[in-house]
Amino acid sequence: MNELIMAKYGEIALKGLNKGTFEDILVKNIRRRLRHCGKFHYMRKQSTIYIEPVGECDLDEVIEKLKVIFGIGALQRCAVFEKDFEQIKSQGVPYLENALKNAKTFKVDAKRSDKSFPMKTPEIQAELGGAILEAYPHLSVDVHNPEITVMCEIRDKGAYVSAERIIGAGGMPVGSSGKALLLLSGGIDSPVAGYMMAKRGAIISAIHFEAPPYTSDRAKMKVEKLAKIITAYCGDINFFCVPFTEIQELLRDNCPEELFTILMRRLMMEIAQRICEKEDIQALVTGESLGQVASQTMYAMVCTDAACRMPVFRPCVGMDKSEIVEIARKIDTFDTSILPYEDCCTVFTPKHPKTRPNLADVEAAQNAFDWEPYIQKAIEGTKPYLIKNA
Ligand code: ATP
Ligand code: MG
Repeated sequence: MNELIMAKYGEIALKGLNKGTFEDILVKNIRRRLRHCGKFHYMRKQSTIYIEPVGECDLDEVIEKLKVIFGIGALQRCAVFEKDFEQIKSQGVPYLENALKNAKTFKVDAKRSDKSFPMKTPEIQAELGGAILEAYPHLSVDVHNPEITVMCEIRDKGAYVSAERIIGAGGMPVGSSGKALLLLSGGIDSPVAGYMMAKRGAIISAIHFEAPPYTSDRAKMKVEKLAKIITAYCGDINFFCVPFTEIQELLRDNCPEELFTILMRRLMMEIAQRICEKEDIQALVTGESLGQVASQTMYAMVCTDAACRMPVFRPCVGMDKSEIVEIARKIDTFDTSILPYEDCCTVFTPKHPKTRPNLADVEAAQNAFDWEPYIQKAIEGTKPYLIKNA
């Protein structure tokens, strides 16, 4: 008996004429993620991608990989039979044992796209349902709210039987919504922000500002590790690590203390967007959440955004910390994020940062110093490298 996996579209199914473009990207992403799992034959039909192993492979591993690919709404692991009802019954019913042995109720949902198949849909449902009841007498049928829905599809190339529906990652395929540069700190919020933008189809690059010797190598390694973890969702990440010490020291020595944080953030944004312009990236992403700290008040965000020529996406902006933590746990970044290494943002932070900075004051303070040579130097010292999805 052969098995295959059906990957059913999430939101792509709702697309109109341009659906094909999204499908192409999704199939490309799936091929890339499964490249080390074996050989597969791919077929697309009716908002579903059929992934059929050619030769040996570990389907559990394949499912684990597929579960984190954005664009897939649901996964279904199925047995493939000849289009012969006796075979479907005799082999399909035992195949379902694992899924059915601990359930109480089920129903059969049949689809017959091959109209030459001699039985009609209600007949398939009734006959297969009867055979299941006979084999598993502890079950009863519940057509409205079954615990398990057994699927039986009669299609061009064969009959598919399945009872295992796994929820997919949802979202849009990575690569279908442009490129974004994630400001990645070692904290809890920014990896979550990157995950959320990748979920909407953005290709994520990451930029990290380090301030040695105030920040350590281990702090940087922690950030690289976070980037590595989210590659499971985002795919490979181009990583930019900016030497930021000199700018921070200059800020400390030349600016009003209470404006230190906001000026630092504006300079981070300036460097980030110059890299975007060079790399053809369209937007910035941060892990900011409204009101979380002094630099994340609306007044502060106004002052930060005034330094930006491109959109700044803040997918965590409306979320509580507990909601962000929940996602961080789900995507497995939380335990790394809480490791206690310093971030450049916590170096030289003022005791009393302004929560209502005034844009004119901020701009005046920034313009009182010529930052340009230092910005350029920081960019020149930034050597990008690829963090690969294992
Ligand atoms: P996070 O949990 O993401 O670190 P946070 O709550 O600690 O966020 P801040 O330290 O104020 O908040 O940083 C706000 C955002 O600025 C971060 O989410 C991140 O996008 C960006 N950021 C902060 N520090 C750095 C850094 N060293 N390099 C790159 N981006 C940073
Ligand atoms: Mg932080």
